[in-house]
Amino acid sequence: MDMRIVLVTGDGIGPDIVREAVRVLDRTAEIFGHTISYREIDAGGISIDKYKVPLTEDALETAKAADAVLLGAVGGPKWDSMPGSLRPEKALLGLRSGLGLFCNFRPAVLYPELAAASPLKDSTIAKGVDLLVVRELTGGIYFGEKGRSDDGKSAYDVMRYSVPEIRRIARKAFDAAMIRHRRVTLVDKANVLETSRLWRETVSEVAAEYPEVVLDFMYVDNASMQLVRDPSHFDVLLTENMFGDILSDEASMITGSIGMLASASLRDDSFGMYEPIHGSAPDIAGKNIANPIATILSAAMMLRYSFSLEKEAKCIENAVSKALSDGVRTADIAGDGEERVGTAECGDEIIRRLG
Ligand code: NAD
Repeated sequence: MDMRIVLVTGDGIGPDIVREAVRVLDRTAEIFGHTISYREIDAGGISIDKYKVPLTEDALETAKAADAVLLGAVGGPKWDSMPGSLRPEKALLGLRSGLGLFCNFRPAVLYPELAAASPLKDSTIAKGVDLLVVRELTGGIYFGEKGRSDDGKSAYDVMRYSVPEIRRIARKAFDAAMIRHRRVTLVDKANVLETSRLWRETVSEVAAEYPEVVLDFMYVDNASMQLVRDPSHFDVLLTENMFGDILSDEASMITGSIGMLASASLRDDSFGMYEPIHGSAPDIAGKNIANPIATILSAAMMLRYSFSLEKEAKCIENAVSKALSDGVRTADIAGDGEERVGTAECGDEIIRRLG
């Protein structure tokens, strides 16, 4: 297969971690007989420095022409005093909306070797957690009509969803469940919200197209409890924008290792943008100590969801698992007295275990 990938290295540790993910991708492509061509675009602080905007039209057009985008991270103190429209983070919004990405996948996986990093480590609760939060990204209350009354003493934000919006994300969730453990939990507030009732009806209709997948429903207040009480209940957790914003952060904290967590933003076709959930970590930029695993696992998600290369994605994930069980640790996941490797060495150790 030929893959055309756009790289957005961004700011801070972005270039260091994307470099390792590219090395892992290249070696994986070599093993499985694929070819990859890369183009790089600037986004975030580096783009502000060069072009005075967080994302140029040209950069967006280049991203649109690719099969997938791999992003490091953007932002840093250098640009903190910029006005709102010139903040590096605007590049992320520009890419997400310009590329039409309406679906966000955030896996939370607890590697047994890193159980000590989990805030739930003192119990067996977090054991075996492997869930995927599927969050709707472009609708709901964040994008609904908003305003204030004339006297400024009342305000409103409208939550609105349409059947097509719900149907397309539901299909993404069920497709993901088909290559996972075949369970979808729809999280909503159907006891009080009309939009939630529309979600239940529509998702139930979509479920009929996937007889192998079990669908259940959970209220969002209960889901927020179950995530810390019995997270292994969840395989695919499907939810609307605001609930997903909150629950995906909660789910990722179960693992306790921000340097390990990948994400994907997708649309109807196979195109996707893949990135670690952490930021640009300016405190450790350029020191060869950042953990590249979240970006490497994002690259694995890219192979799975944009190119349907499941074997290749698993090969990368298995190499990461093997490296961890052999004791490979960057500083952020190393316990007291454990030996630490740098960013590049961590990449080397994973590449050695690709097969
Ligand atoms: P951060 O995620 O960059 O860092 C939080 C802490 O985690 C820091 O101590 C950092 O050193 C550590 N950390 C993060 N990733 C790591 C990794 N891969 N390996 C080892 N340690 C890691 O969050 P922050 O400090 O709040 O934000 C820093 C900058 O990043 C800000 O400008 C913020 O706006 C931006 N940001 C960007 C994104 C993005 O690009 N998607 C997301 C969040 C924050």
